[in-house]
Amino acid sequence: MGIKNVTVAGSGVLGYQIAFQTAFHGFKVIVYDINDEVLEKAKTKFNGLANSYKSDINASEEQINATLKNLNYSSNLAESVKDADLVIEAVPENPKIKISFYENLRAVAPEKTIFATNSSTLLPSQFADVTGRPEKFLALHFANQIWKRNTAEIMGHPKTDKGVYDEVVEFAKAIGMIPIELHKEQPAYVLNSLLVPLLDAATNLLVNDVADAQTIDKTWMVATGAPMGPFAILDMVGLTTVYDINKLEADSTKDPLKIKVVEYFKDNFIDKNKLGTSTGEGFYKYPNPEFEQKDFLK
Ligand code: NAD
Repeated sequence: MGIKNVTVAGSGVLGYQIAFQTAFHGFKVIVYDINDEVLEKAKTKFNGLANSYKSDINASEEQINATLKNLNYSSNLAESVKDADLVIEAVPENPKIKISFYENLRAVAPEKTIFATNSSTLLPSQFADVTGRPEKFLALHFANQIWKRNTAEIMGHPKTDKGVYDEVVEFAKAIGMIPIELHKEQPAYVLNSLLVPLLDAATNLLVNDVADAQTIDKTWMVATGAPMGPFAILDMVGLTTVYDINKLEADSTKDPLKIKVVEYFKDNFIDKNKLGTSTGEGFYKYPNPEFEQKDFLK
């Protein structure tokens, strides 16, 4: 595999996890962000992440030290990509920001560099032309808590070169991911194409007062053997994100049921600062939520 030096652009929620995971698996990584202040914040976040790697996947002190040594930082785009074999873009989910990022990147990146976007909702074909190298551009999509939820969805657009695609699949494996190969562009990839309709259906059942959240989760868990139901998943995703996504849809569609869903989340969770696992309460209380207790499935 030709990929050795990796630059991760954007050190936010996902970017800093991608950078750490890549460095953890022995690659030299440069973390690029808009200014040094943001990069300083990323450095402190890496210490917290190191603790999660230790407790969740038994990472040793030596592994953590080696990981931190593999991480370098720069707020100068040209400097940060000058040796890059792969740039993973994790800048905000805003087409204007992404377009301007790729315009700047194409001007300074070496010809060899592969560009991969981590975008959750935008398709690579939207940006292929602006990258200036459509054949070396594709989506490489990670999930939050990358070290535990280690899927990497790999999705090209019609002009992505097959060799480049295969190289990114190999890279994903090399950083401990399970590669999920998509044969064509699909909004929401595989995972969210399955998950979002499930979560929406569960929310609609609740808001329409068909059944309570615990009953809906229990149904899913008993009938499919899944370890958690849709409302436990919503707690994990974070109810602010859930609220934001529903609000965007309600504002654009004016669908009365969506508006009801948005009001429900605002009144019962957002206004009460019950935001899911991150605040210790959402549909369930954490740690030791009710759905993990033996009696829950009775
Ligand atoms: P975020 O807002 O937490 O982080 C974005 C980072 O990009 C910030 O550090 C910001 O300073 C930086 N940034 C802004 N403009 C930039 C520029 N021009 N160049 C370089 N850096 C810039 O966002 P996030 O949640 O990490 O999402 C980033 C991408 O990852 C999005 O495309 C999103 O769809 C995708 N993603 C997010 C999640 C998630 O759970 N948050 C999951 C999978 C994929």
